[in-house]
Amino acid sequence: MDINVARHALVLHQPGGESVRPLLSPINDLIALRPETTYDLYLYDQYWTFWPADWFEQLDGDVNVEKLVNHISDQAARWRRRRYHKLFLAAAQDATERKLSASLAPHLEKIRWLPGNQDDNVPDGDLPALAVYTLIRALELRPLDLVECPRCRIPWLTTTDADRNPFCLRPSLGQLTTCRQLHKEEQFRTRHGDWRREYKRLHERLRRGSLSETELMAWRAENTLESWQPFELWQTQTSSPTGARPRTAQKVAPDSGAVTAQKGATATRAGQSQKTSRSKRQSTSDSKESAK
Ligand SMILES: [Zn+2]
Repeated sequence: MDINVARHALVLHQPGGESVRPLLSPINDLIALRPETTYDLYLYDQYWTFWPADWFEQLDGDVNVEKLVNHISDQAARWRRRRYHKLFLAAAQDATERKLSASLAPHLEKIRWLPGNQDDNVPDGDLPALAVYTLIRALELRPLDLVECPRCRIPWLTTTDADRNPFCLRPSLGQLTTCRQLHKEEQFRTRHGDWRREYKRLHERLRRGSLSETELMAWRAENTLESWQPFELWQTQTSSPTGARPRTAQKVAPDSGAVTAQKGATATRAGQSQKTSRSKRQSTSDSKESAK
């Protein structure tokens, strides 16, 4: 398989196309090896173009997916028996100290390095060789850190950026969805639930006559699903003597239907524009992270 690195990502080349993966995926995927069908399916999906051609048998004019996944499952079991998950975890630790572990030598010698911008080459399906290749390329590019994913609790190698996302890009235990995606969905559900409760509560107050339509409209104008404060807190700050609300986090008990307002979430018009630029920065850093 011809491989290269472009824009800090791994590019797998094959006749008729290419696929791109985060640069540190191969080593992190080996560290998380486990006997789970969902994990074999994840490997099948992520390295579709990388598996050896003779694993692709035909069935009724299409690829026999079951046979292919069985090959991957057998190969992953061999890697686990050779304790490659431990070997690559130790190598990842060494990489945080800017060292390449000598135990990687048998995999290192499988790589063919070509001069200039030509693609390098590793044997098809040899994920350990691919992991060594990408580890070396990552060491050339940036400082690395080994962190424990807060969800699956399996360490993973990532960058030392202060704003990095600690949730890993591998499937969560027993699932096909990644830890990062599951965390994002949970956050959304929590935020959405609290927002809905506050919205319903204010409409109930409007119905009872303890809140005017103007007050509700004013709150709605400044509070959105992404960034909001409970009505009473927002009102207190709007009517403070200076008229300006602080840009620091305000924590409110969850059972009052409130959430922790994000830093700088509401404020003066200047604060609003800061919010916009911060969320732009956030989305840029998210896309940067996903390319890693
Ligand atoms: Zn994880």
